[in-house]
Amino acid sequence: MADRRDSAVVLGASMSGLLAARAISSTFRSGTIVDRDRLADTAELRKGVPQAAHAHGLLTSGYRIMDAYFAGLMDELEAIGAPRGDVGGDFLWFQFGKWKLRHDAGL
Ligand SMILES: Cc1cc2nc3c(=O)[nH]c(=O)nc-3n(C[C@H](O)[C@H](O)[C@H](O)COP(=O)(O)OP(=O)(O)OC[C@H]3O[C@@H](n4cnc5c(N)ncnc54)[C@H](O)[C@@H]3O)c2cc1C
Repeated sequence: MADRRDSAVVLGASMSGLLAARAISSTFRSGTIVDRDRLADTAELRKGVPQAAHAHGLLTSGYRIMDAYFAGLMDELEAIGAPRGDVGGDFLWFQFGKWKLRHDAGL
């Protein structure tokens, strides 16, 4: 605690901003997250993140980091409808004009 710095400001309260705030929370005594949108208590589409309306896949590194930072988050996401699957075996990937070989990646 003695080594903690006073305060930090994080710009943007989307994925990067919220994860950055979590990452530095052990280094700073307090933090302020600034966003030009007003955030609702529940998930909703907002102007500052227009890509949110598009389906997103959370890949393995992101999954591991978020799971470590926010205990229970993945179960909550699944409970509200996020499908969980193996990134190599459960998806059909078409890239550069070819279908990727499906395999159990364990990811
Ligand atoms: C169609 C599409 C599909 C995608 N699919 C995937 C996928 O499947 N998997 C994946 O990992 N990634 C995917 N991406 C990429 C992913 O959406 C982005 O990398 C990610 O959303 C970026 O997050 P971010 O927090 O850095 O920025 P953003 O989500 O863009 O958030 C920026 C934040 O900054 C705020 N802000 C902006 N300007 C200001 C300002 N002047 N002052 C204060 N606040 C401000 C905004 O309101 C917003 O909250 C996809 C992107 C697109 C467009």
